[in-house]
Amino acid sequence: MRAYNFCAGPAALPTAVLEKAQAEMLDWQGKGLSIMEMSHRSADYVAVAEKAEADLRKLMNIPDNYKVLFLQGGASLQFSAIPLNLLGKNNKADYIHTGIWSEKALKEAKRYGDINVVEAGIQDQDGKLAISEPSTWNLSKDAAYVHYADNETIGGLQFNHIPETDKPLVADLSSSILAAPIDVTKFGLIYAGAQKNIGPAGLTLVIIRDDLLGQAMDSIPSILKYADQAKNDSMVNTPSTYAWYLSGLVFEWLLEQGGVEAMHQVNLAKAELLYGYIDASDFYANPIAKEYRSIMNVPFTLAKPELEKQFLAEAEAKHLLNLAGHRSVGGMRASIYNAVPLEGVQALVNFMDDFAKRNA
Ligand SMILES: *Cc1c(COP(=O)(O)O)cnc(C)c1O
Repeated sequence: MRAYNFCAGPAALPTAVLEKAQAEMLDWQGKGLSIMEMSHRSADYVAVAEKAEADLRKLMNIPDNYKVLFLQGGASLQFSAIPLNLLGKNNKADYIHTGIWSEKALKEAKRYGDINVVEAGIQDQDGKLAISEPSTWNLSKDAAYVHYADNETIGGLQFNHIPETDKPLVADLSSSILAAPIDVTKFGLIYAGAQKNIGPAGLTLVIIRDDLLGQAMDSIPSILKYADQAKNDSMVNTPSTYAWYLSGLVFEWLLEQGGVEAMHQVNLAKAELLYGYIDASDFYANPIAKEYRSIMNVPFTLAKPELEKQFLAEAEAKHLLNLAGHRSVGGMRASIYNAVPLEGVQALVNFMDDFAKRNA
């Protein structure tokens, strides 16, 4: 049987997608070989790759003046690729700091340029984590770009707005891409590791506006250079062909579900169910101010932390997997990405309620 998987990443994939991949594993479309045994330059594979891009463009309404790149190295390699490509002559950028991932991004960027850090993670009057008023941010006048992480996957803190700036806006959407509709035209660059809400690990999406392609540092490796990757359809070298194919199956599945708007409605229902239960309970608590709660990653603590191990063991016995919080913060975390159905969240809430009643 398939368990409900609340892993933050690599995360749950839709069962229907895995079944399709399984069915065509040995003999893809009657060609007598699997897709991962094919040349990335073959007409068959190129058609798969192009279809994945076309479906993603449809799902996210990506305008023609944006390139979509299917790269490797994870979101973490983009922490370096972004400054190397975009710092330009000014060599200056603003980084909005709200948690662990935005901090990792700014630490890498500091190796290459003059980075102005905007401290935007705050505690509100009730001691909950929140994001400060944008009017208080010390954004610079001459930054080449402004970077932020829309959803802090570890902390469970998420922006409820797109930051306003007249500079190119660069967003780490690793754990929030395709969870809700976004207006791509507000961004200069969007990037996301695939293993949260797109597909398997090994693929990284970069969506970049054309006018930002020409300002990379001379010393940049060509694999990291967006202009080179764009010119070569993300095939400067062998791409992560299987992950690209499987992500394409996920995009087809998303279109079948009604697209990103329909997924967003389900995601809101899932988040309301889980946060609603936590808020009504004396046994569980979530540390984030309501307006900035992630709809994808829900951290929570137990009133009796000494019961955490027991909680995880009993959850696993009920086929509710990977609920431990990130090793750096502890506690619990339920990641409820697109592939986790509402029934999975209901099963989690039922278990949490039963556990609380037995251990209060
Ligand atoms: C997971 C994650 C990353 C790191 O992704 P890798 O693909 O492992 O490098 C970066 N940013 C955010 C917001 C993430 O959730």
